Amino acid sequence: MENKINAHNNVLELIGNTPLVKLNRVAESFTGNFYAKVEAFNPGHSSKDRIANFIIEEAEHKGLLKPGSTIIETTSGNTGFSIAMVSIIKGYKCILAVSSKSSLDKIDMLRSMGAEVYVCPAHVAPEDPRSYYQVAKRLHEETKDSIYINQYFNKLNTEAHYRSTGPEIWKQTNGQITHLVACSGTGGTISGTAAYLKEQNPNVKIIAVDAYGSVLKKYHETREFDSKEIYPYRIEGLGKNLIPDSIDFDVIDKFIKVTDEESAHSAREISRKEGMFVGYTSGAALQAIKQLDAEGEFDENSNVVVIFPDHGSRYMSKVYSDKWMADQGFSNAISTDKIPEVQY
Ligand code: PMP
Repeated sequence: MENKINAHNNVLELIGNTPLVKLNRVAESFTGNFYAKVEAFNPGHSSKDRIANFIIEEAEHKGLLKPGSTIIETTSGNTGFSIAMVSIIKGYKCILAVSSKSSLDKIDMLRSMGAEVYVCPAHVAPEDPRSYYQVAKRLHEETKDSIYINQYFNKLNTEAHYRSTGPEIWKQTNGQITHLVACSGTGGTISGTAAYLKEQNPNVKIIAVDAYGSVLKKYHETREFDSKEIYPYRIEGLGKNLIPDSIDFDVIDKFIKVTDEESAHSAREISRKEGMFVGYTSGAALQAIKQLDAEGEFDENSNVVVIFPDHGSRYMSKVYSDKWMADQGFSNAISTDKIPEVQY
């Protein structure tokens, strides 16, 4: 008998091939069949592992990176975590400029993964020198042997999903997918996945989820940037105050907007009813499905795939904190003073 150890060489080998899981209780009252692509099963617990690994490998192939080089990025957290993880394995330094809107959990987590983190104000224009875009650009210019991932303006972000998420979903559904519902931040996930699926079957309907306070839906409908659409909102990773290059608006059939409050309740509902501990934007995606179902978007033969981008552990101080929910004025949040105490 061969005495072979059955082990992966490192965590990067575990990226992708995430499971598709049927939604049962949360979808009970909907028309059609619903399946979640659960991206928390990636080793860095989000879909961003795919793009971090792909973009860094492409840079290596082009000879842009050598041992000890620095990788710089702007990120709401997940991309940063994934880049930090890939950097550890491949021997690069990782510098991240993050928005002050990111949860403290996320920032601490990035530092735990060896990244150098700069926290930048969330509510300034992208061209403001204090914005995380400008800070990252400056750090890239000042740091020798560095690359700037720039996920919002990097087509490799979209290509990563065209090459992995799209083919996986096509195979997992045996080509029977009728609808894809996915959040749009950089738009890489939805555009890359959609491009592959539409090549296989142009009738697959692609629905992007956007936030109130973001410009993406309006831009899709009018092809005009309307700054009046912009105002602060709470969901991290969804929507945008600029038009990213990584979105291909032509492969998206429609955008739907969701609120902070309903998305937060929907995220908690997925955890409680499906036993899947997911992040805030997974709640946004479920909320979108609720609205689409109410609009009569689906029929009995619909096979809807929804992407759940990350894990709930990243939101312990937000969506999964009763105090945070109550502080936002979100209704029905269980108040901490109602938690029963054990009497001795
Ligand atoms: N959900 C979360 C939690 C994210 O961090 C992101 C990325 N910003 C998205 C959804 C959206 O994915 P994409 O950037 O590929 O549109």
